[in-house]
Amino acid sequence: MDFKEHITVVEDYPKPGIRFKDITTLMQEGKVYKQAINEMAEFARKQNADVIVGPEARGFVVGCPIAYELEKGFVPVRKKGKLPRETIDADYGLEYGSDSLSIHKDAIKPGQRVIITDDLLATGGTVKATVKLVEELGGIVAGLAFMIELTYLEGRSGLDQYELFSLVDF
Ligand code: IMP
Repeated sequence: MDFKEHITVVEDYPKPGIRFKDITTLMQEGKVYKQAINEMAEFARKQNADVIVGPEARGFVVGCPIAYELEKGFVPVRKKGKLPRETIDADYGLEYGSDSLSIHKDAIKPGQRVIITDDLLATGGTVKATVKLVEELGGIVAGLAFMIELTYLEGRSGLDQYELFSLVDF
C-alpha cells in the first residue's frame, strides 16, 4: 500500500520553512490506518516485544493500537508533570532550549523487551530521550518503529545499535 499518498504535507507549519507531515488524513481512512498499524505491529511481533512505549501525543496514536493488536501492555511517556505517580525524567534538546520527558518508575520491568513507537522520526531527540528512560529502568530496547522518517534530518544517526523500522521516508 502507498501510505505516502495519504499523508498531507502542510507548507510553512508550524512556522515558515517547515513542511509539516500531517498523519491525520491517513488516520481518517480506516483501512489505511489499520494496514499501517498492522505493518508496524508485525515488526514489533518479530522483535518479540513484551511492551510498547510511546511518547505523547502521536506516539499514543500508533503505540496503543499496536499494543492492542499484540495483546501487550502500553506505557505512556509524557511531558514532565503529567504522570500522577513516581517518575524518572530525561531532558532532550529542542530547537530553542530543552524539555523533559517522564515515565512511571514501575512501568518497565528489568529485562522486558520494549518497542518504542512514534508517528515520526525527525532529529531523533524525542526517541533518544525515550530510549534513555527505558534503559534506565532496565528495559531492553528491542526496536524503534515510526510511520514516517525524515531521512534528511539524519535522526537515525546515533541509533545504529537499535533495530529501526519506518513505513514511509521523506
Ligand atoms: P524529533 O524529536 O526531532 O525526532 O521530532 C519528532 C517528534 O516531533 C515526534 O514526536 C513528532 O510527533 C513531532 N514532529 C516533528 N516534525 C513533525 C511533522 O512534520 N509532523 C508530525 N510530527 C512531527
